[in-house]
Amino acid sequence: MCGIVGCLGFKNPREYVLNGLKTLDYRGYDSAGVAYYNDGIHIYKDVGAVEHLMELVPNDIKTDIMIGHTRWATHGVPNVANTHPHISNHKKICLVHNGVIENYEDIKKMLLEKHYEFYGDTDSEIVANLIEYYYLRENDILGSLKECMSILKGSYALAIICSDYTDHMYIMKNGSPLIIGKGEGFNLVASDASPMIKYTENYIELNDQEYGRISKDDVEIFDKYGQKVIKQYIKKDIESISHDLKGYPHYMLKEIEEVPQTVKRILDTYTKDGKYCFDEKLINRLKESDHIMFIACGTSYHSSLVGGRYFEHSNKSTSKYIASEWAFDPVFPGNKPFIILISQSGETADLIHCLKIIKENNLESLILTNTGGSTLDRNCTYSILLNAGIEVSVASTKAYVAQVTVLCLLAAAIVDDYQAIKDLYSVLPLIDEIQNSYKPKIMEIARAIKNKEHLFYLGRSFDYFLSMEASLKLKEVSYIHSEAIPGGELKHGPIALIEQDTPVIVFITDHHTALSMRGNIKEVEARGAKVYVISTERNAKESDNIVVKNYPFYLSSVVVSSIAFYLAYYVTIEKGYNVDKPRNLAKSVTVE
Ligand code: GLU
Repeated sequence: MCGIVGCLGFKNPREYVLNGLKTLDYRGYDSAGVAYYNDGIHIYKDVGAVEHLMELVPNDIKTDIMIGHTRWATHGVPNVANTHPHISNHKKICLVHNGVIENYEDIKKMLLEKHYEFYGDTDSEIVANLIEYYYLRENDILGSLKECMSILKGSYALAIICSDYTDHMYIMKNGSPLIIGKGEGFNLVASDASPMIKYTENYIELNDQEYGRISKDDVEIFDKYGQKVIKQYIKKDIESISHDLKGYPHYMLKEIEEVPQTVKRILDTYTKDGKYCFDEKLINRLKESDHIMFIACGTSYHSSLVGGRYFEHSNKSTSKYIASEWAFDPVFPGNKPFIILISQSGETADLIHCLKIIKENNLESLILTNTGGSTLDRNCTYSILLNAGIEVSVASTKAYVAQVTVLCLLAAAIVDDYQAIKDLYSVLPLIDEIQNSYKPKIMEIARAIKNKEHLFYLGRSFDYFLSMEASLKLKEVSYIHSEAIPGGELKHGPIALIEQDTPVIVFITDHHTALSMRGNIKEVEARGAKVYVISTERNAKESDNIVVKNYPFYLSSVVVSSIAFYLAYYVTIEKGYNVDKPRNLAKSVTVE
C-alpha cells in the first residue's frame, strides 16, 4: 500500500518523484503529496490522483532533495491535513511514512505535554514531531533516529528531510519496504524498485530496524544499536519489475494473458525431465511433518484451499487459516506441523505478524511469494518464488494460478507422484485455446450480468474453491455483490436469496460432482434464477454457455480460472470502472 519516492542530487527531481508516484500508484492510494528543500521546505499535497498533484507542483523546481508519497489512509480520513508529507512544529523535520505506528497515542500524549501541536489525525505526523523533539534536545539527527527506533512500535518506512542538513536524506525502516537505488552522482529511494529502473540497476534493500543517511554520492546504514551495516548492492531483473503494458489496454488483461507462460515457467523452474527440482531439505521437512498448516489472506487464501486439498490427497492432514484470524488465536495442530505462508507481494502485514508468532514458537515456515527480496522471502525458513513476473493490477490473476500450480507440484513431489507434471504440461494448450477462442462467449455473459446488484457462483469441491476466487475477483473490480456457495449448501440457507432473474454462475468441470450440480441448477431455476453454466465436454449439456475440452478435473483453478478472470474483467470494462485500481483496495496490503 502507499508509495514512497525520494531523490538526492537528481537532475530532474520533479520528474522522478511525480512519475515515480504514478508508477507506484498500482499499490493503491487516496491522496498524494511531495516536499522539497529550497531555502526552506516546500510542500504540495492534495486528496485524489497524482495527476491532480502534478498540476499543483511548479514545473521549475530547483532542489537537490525531494520526497513524495501516495497515502492509503489508516489513521484519519483522506483530507489535506492528513496527506503526507508531514512537517514538525519547528519545521526541522519533514517526512513521508508508510505503515502504522501502533503506540502513536502514547507518543502523542508525551508530545502534547511538551507543548507540541497536531494539525491532523495521522500516526505519521506524530513521528515527524518525535524525531524533531529528540533532534532539538540532543542536536544529533542520527541519534534522534536511533532513539525513535527504540520507541516506535509498528511498521514504518520513512523518508525524511531535516532542514538543517539538506545534503542528506534520512531513512528508517521496520516492516514496510524501502529500497535505495544508487546512481552516478545521485541516489534514489522508493517503496519498490519500479520507479527507479529507468535510472539505475543497483539497489540496496533495507532490513527491518535499520536507519540511514544518504547523500548524492554515499549511503550509510545503521542497525538499531547505531552500528554501521555493510550493505551489498543487488541487481534486479528488469523484466520482472517493469511496468510496461506491452500494448494491452489494462494490466489485468495483460496479466490474465500471461497465465499460460506463468504455468510453463513454473514447470520449467521446478521440474526437469519429469522429475521435481525443489529444495530437498524442504521436501524432507514436508514429508516428516504430520500436519501442513496454510496461512494466507484473500486470493492467496483461496489458493491455499486448493493447495490444501492437494496435500490431503497426498495423505497429509491440513488446516487453512486466514492470517488476520489466526494471529489472534494461534493454534498449531498436529505433533510436527509445518507452515506454508502464501503472499503475492511478500509484504502482507497480516502474514508478517503471523511469521513473528511462528518464529516465537521455533517452527519452520515456507513462503510462496512472487517477490524475491521481500520481507517474507527473506525471513521465512524456506522460500519458493512464483516467478510470475510483476503483477500490477490490484486484482490478482496470474499469481493465483502460479500459487495453485506450485502447490500442486509440491504436494505431488512429497509422494513421488509424477503424473501432476504431465497433467500440468497437458493443460497448457487448453488454457491458450480458452484465451484465444472463448472471449466472445464470456463477453456475452458479462453484458448479461453487468447491471445486476447480486449474483452467486456455485460449484463443488475444486469447482467450489474456484467459485470462491471467481466471486472475489468479480466483486473486487466490478463492485457487484457476489457470493460463492458450495452446491450442497444452497438448501441450508442461501437459496432463500434466489429470486426471479438472480444470476447464478455454475462451474461443472468435475465429473464426481456433475450430477449433484445439475440437481442444484434445477433447484435455483425453480426459484427463477438465470443460470450460466461453464462445463467440460464430459459433463456438458447442450444448453451450457461455455464448454471446454476435458482436462484433469483437479486443475480447474489452473485452467478455467481464466474464464472467471475474463468475466470479472469484461463486466468491469462494460461498466466503465477502473479495472486495475478498484476503489478502496491496494495491491500489497502492508497494514494490518
Ligand atoms: N498510517 C499512515 C497514515 O494513515 C500511513 C498510511 C500509509 O501507509 O499510506 O497516514
